[in-house]
Amino acid sequence: MSRARRTTAENRQTSRTCPTGPTREEKAAFKARVREWAKTLKVEPAQIRVQRMRNKWASCSPGKWVTFSENLLVQTSSFQRYAIVHELLHLRIQNHGKLFKSLMSIYVPDWERWTGSR
Ligand SMILES: [Zn+2]
Repeated sequence: MSRARRTTAENRQTSRTCPTGPTREEKAAFKARVREWAKTLKVEPAQIRVQRMRNKWASCSPGKWVTFSENLLVQTSSFQRYAIVHELLHLRIQNHGKLFKSLMSIYVPDWERWTGSR
């Protein structure tokens, strides 16, 4: 009886941490990667979030909250880098002007191959 109850609790916990999206560990690893890039780019995001998003890979708010789509976690490492650097640079530069593009080229030399994807 008590054994059966414990099994049920375990099952419930499993389905809570693993719906179909990334696990907590995968999110933590991704956020660590974002923090590394924030250091490199000398920006200080107030908060880094990974959550379900519709129609975009990432966004940033005026309060320096940076949010990334869960779907990024199943993309290639080089695409993740593009998305991370792109969004973090917006903490310094709000537009996609000349300065933004030249900084992208420094940190993600082949970034232009992804410009059609967002
Ligand atoms: Zn942008």
